[in-house]
Amino acid sequence: MPEIPELEAIREFFTEHLPGKPILSAEARIPVVIRTPARDVRETLAGDKFGPLLRHGKFLLFPLASNRVLAINPMLTGRFQYVPAEKKPAAKTCLIVHMEGGRDVRYADERLMGKIYMVPAGALDGIPNWATNGPDLLDPKFTEDAWMAGLKRYRGAIKGIITNAEFVQGVGNAYSDEILWEAKINPYTPKTKLAEDDLRALYRAARAVMAWATPLVRGAMVKGDILDYEERRDFMRVHRRGGQPCPRCGTPITEITANQRITSFCRNCQPGGPQAK
Ligand SMILES: [Zn+2]
Repeated sequence: MPEIPELEAIREFFTEHLPGKPILSAEARIPVVIRTPARDVRETLAGDKFGPLLRHGKFLLFPLASNRVLAINPMLTGRFQYVPAEKKPAAKTCLIVHMEGGRDVRYADERLMGKIYMVPAGALDGIPNWATNGPDLLDPKFTEDAWMAGLKRYRGAIKGIITNAEFVQGVGNAYSDEILWEAKINPYTPKTKLAEDDLRALYRAARAVMAWATPLVRGAMVKGDILDYEERRDFMRVHRRGGQPCPRCGTPITEITANQRITSFCRNCQPGGPQAK
């Protein structure tokens, strides 16, 4: 599932390559993921131009010169490409935007769970859950004090809280493991058992992990002026590294699967857990 580092890397790439280039035409090949009429998407895009991209939580936002925004949430399996127009489309390619200069922006989605909207700029809060979700982790207004204030409303295991979009957006299952490892906090420790210093350290770890991972992800999916998204997480230090030595202390990483989610952590560096005192 794309999280902030993947989406930031894609946002940076498209912002370098798309603004100012005319859009020739668009094809809505699998309309089920398109939550506004597919015809609107096709007709709005043709002849328009993209501006610099934005990201909000797990939405990638493509602002248009016509004052509309193409908003895409790739959910579990959505992926973006920027490839030569003659390249055969991948299976489950939902949307193709043909750019002047012979490149396509493509969106493919194996499980078709992603969501694509075309909305007027300023009407993004009409997108379901937009208004009720919490701030984006990298929003400059989301300071360490705002993080502490937001946390007051939550109880339960800390991993469940930092992956809850109503608290903070952009953190998912994989990077939450990296963040908790960085901060030396056990994913199952109840928030109420953590000291204020730990919760503050967690904020700094969250931002540090995003800054560390984004260029690594970008290096894996960008080749020159071609973007071909592929989920590459082999640089991760703890997530899905069950049984391998912790890079900090050498203890074998523990891996627990519950509700189809894998949680990986180091029992030595991240003591505590459900019974933490
Ligand atoms: Zn360790």
